[in-house]
Order: sequence, then structure tokens, then C-alpha cells
Amino acid sequence: MSTSPDPNPRPEPATEVEAQALVSRAVSFADSVVASSAPQWEHERQWPGEALAAAASLGLNRIQVPAEHGGYDLPYTVKLRVVEAFARHDMAFSFAWVNAHNATARLARDGSPAQRERWLPGLLSGRSVGTVCLTEPGAGSDFPAIATRARRNGQGWVLDGEKAWATNAAGADHAVVYAQTDPAAGNKGIAGFLVDLGAPGVTKRHVEPLVGGHAIGAGGFRLEGVELDADGLFYRPGEAFGRALASINGARTYVAAMCNAMLDTALRIAVAHAQQRHTFGSPLAERQGLRWMLADAATDLEASRLLTERAASLIESGGDAIEAAAHAKKFGVRIAEHRLRDCMQILGASGLRDSCPIGRHLVGARIANYVDGTTEMQNERIAASLLRRLATQGKA
Ligand SMILES: Cc1cc2nc3c(=O)[nH]c(=O)nc-3n(C[C@H](O)[C@H](O)[C@H](O)COP(=O)(O)OP(=O)(O)OC[C@H]3O[C@@H](n4cnc5c(N)ncnc54)[C@H](O)[C@@H]3O)c2cc1C
Repeated sequence: MSTSPDPNPRPEPATEVEAQALVSRAVSFADSVVASSAPQWEHERQWPGEALAAAASLGLNRIQVPAEHGGYDLPYTVKLRVVEAFARHDMAFSFAWVNAHNATARLARDGSPAQRERWLPGLLSGRSVGTVCLTEPGAGSDFPAIATRARRNGQGWVLDGEKAWATNAAGADHAVVYAQTDPAAGNKGIAGFLVDLGAPGVTKRHVEPLVGGHAIGAGGFRLEGVELDADGLFYRPGEAFGRALASINGARTYVAAMCNAMLDTALRIAVAHAQQRHTFGSPLAERQGLRWMLADAATDLEASRLLTERAASLIESGGDAIEAAAHAKKFGVRIAEHRLRDCMQILGASGLRDSCPIGRHLVGARIANYVDGTTEMQNERIAASLLRRLATQGKA
């Protein structure tokens, strides 16, 4: 544990009432700052560093941080509510925030005393942002194929390689970088390292110029002879691969929740428009074809929420959430893409206006297809569980 006093002491103890107050603060922040700034982040291709810092100053980076390190130590579902509140207005900000939060919780939970002492106060207060680098230009879904190498250098390490698509790369000042220490050992050779992104040998590559989702600030880094001392090791070889996978069910489930929140927003906008807009003497809401579009969107949203809640409750109870999280993400992404488009259709040409968030949400749903495991990778998970389960049943 850090020996120096925390300059950002935990504002209040976390009780159930406090958790609700924290979520209320997030909702107010989302309805004011995120709602009004999201179009600007998109147009001006901005990474919302100031808004992320402001969210941290509300205590939001402390949700899953252990109490002994200045956090609230609250359940996963509290984070899920905050993710939803932000995604109602902007999936990209929600994703940037949850990754900033997770970097804080990861460092508090898994960092060494020296690592915590150096980075945690800044992460808790929002002065600093961390990122996590698994993906490389040559390895995304196939994470074990990463080519970034870590070689022993006395008590320390030297890193060489290239990382891509790291969320918040636009403003992050440190990263957990996954690298291969022993190619012959496969997954067991992969280790995680805590890298100061301002250190000699680290070059920030461009922030990805995307078709949308600029608030995610995704980008990469080149690592050339980056020297780390022994304390640079974050996850040991043999431990890192499992650590990378340990949080994936939670990530898949909150991406599903982001999709649900975006569709909920679109449905509200489409219903209001259908009631107010008249064509041929009647409101659009009286046209059966359009009413049924809205009804189908509502049914899909209900089903998706149930899948998301089921995965969340398994995560919270410590159950096996692999299959449930894959179902939730796959279904949430699919229905968001389909039904966001339907909601936009009901708005006619005005759905294309920049002032309407549904177009931004459609891009958000596309992005949700890739992050934290692509839709095809969810199918691989589901198929593997299904085949194993049914094979076991067949033998019974
Ligand atoms: C906005 C954004 C933020 C991101 N943030 C991070 C981050 O913070 N940290 C990080 O490390 N990474 C991050 N990523 C990277 C993300 O995890 C990868 O994009 C993802 O793993 C997919 O890898 P890829 O894009 O290289 O696609 P590939 O792995 O090259 O796959 C290409 C296509 O082929 C499909 N495919 C691949 N293999 C198979 C197979 N065996 N069977 C069937 N289909 C297959 C995939 O599903 C995909 O549709 C981010 C990506 C985005 C878009």
C-alpha cells in the first residue's frame, strides 16, 4: 500500500444510498455535459479529456476501486448504470470513461505499492488516464499472436513492438502493455508491463481518424528498446493471459448495456416524432407499419435488457458468465444496429440531421461490433459452450 497520503481522499463512504447518489451524479453529468458536448467531440475530432477529468472529480473513477486504495468498492452493476447513463447520449464517451475507470481499478487492485504510489492519485482525480494495449497492427482477435517482445535486461526488461487501437491513447500517460516474453511458450509467455508513455523509446502513433466515435481517442504506440526496471512488470508470464480474459465478460456485458441505452434513446425520439408528425391527415403513429416497427424495437430492447441483466447478475454473483455475456453482447449489438436504423427511418429526413443523435448511435453500434471481442468471436464462445454442454448431456 502507498505510504504517502492520498491527495484525493475518498469523498464519502460507499453505502447503498451513496451508490444511488453516485449514479444520480453521473446521470446529471450525462444529461448536461455529455449531451451537449458529444456533437462537438465528433465534429472537431476531439478526445474529451476535460470531461473525463470532470467525471473523475465526481468520484466516478472510484466505483470498483478497493476501499483501502481510496475507492468505493461498489458492485459491477453500479458501473453498468453509469455506462448506460453516458451511452444514452454518446457511446464513445461511455466507452472512453469505462476504460479510464477500469484502468484506475486495475492499477489499484493489481499494481505494486510503487506503481500505485506513482499513478493512482492522478487516476482517481482524473489528472491522469491509463490505457491497456493488447491489440497490434497484426493481431486483434488472435491475441495470442502478439509480436511485441519483452526481453530480460538484468533485473528489468526491454520492450520492442507496436500496439494499435488503444482506447484513450489520445491522452493516456501510461499503459498496461501485453508482450511476449517467450514465443515458444505461447499464451504462457505473455506478460503485462506498466509503461510510462512518455518514456524514451515510446512513440505515439496517430490517433485513428475514424468515421465516428472520436471521443474514444483510439490510437497506438511504437515501442523501441523501452527499458523498464523490475517494477515495470505488471502481470507475470503465465498470469497475464488469464488476467486479460478475466475482465472480458464484464466488458462484453457493459457493451451490451451501451447498445440498450442507445436504442432506448432512439425509441423515445422515434415515438415522440411519430405522435407529433402528421402525413395525409394522420399522425405517423397511426400507421400500422410504423407502429409495428416501434413495437418490434421495444420487444427487442426488452429481450436485450433481460440478457444483459442475466449476464450482469452472473458476474456479480461470481458465476460462469462466459456464455451469458457473449449472448448479451451479440444480441445487444445486433438489435441496436437493426432497430436504430428503423427508428431513424421513422424520423424521415430529419433523422439525418446532426442535431439528432441516432446517426451517432448507429456508428456506436458498429463500433460495438468490434470492441471487447468481435461479433464473430461471441459466436465462437457460444458455439464452444454449446457443443461442450450438449456433448456432456448426450453422455448422461
Ligand atoms: C474503437 C475501438 C477501441 C478499441 N480499444 C481497444 C483497447 O483499448 N485495447 C486493445 O487492446 N484493443 C482495442 N481495440 C481493438 C479491438 O479489440 C480489435 O479491433 C478486435 O479485437 C478485433 O481485432 P481486429 O480489428 O484486428 O480484427 P481481426 O482480428 O483482424 O478480424 C477481422 C474480422 O475477421 C473476423 N474473424 C477473425 N478471426 C475469425 C475467426 N477465427 N472466425 C470467424 N471470424 C473471424 C473478426 O470477427 C472480424 O470481423 C479497439 C477497437 C476499436 C474499434
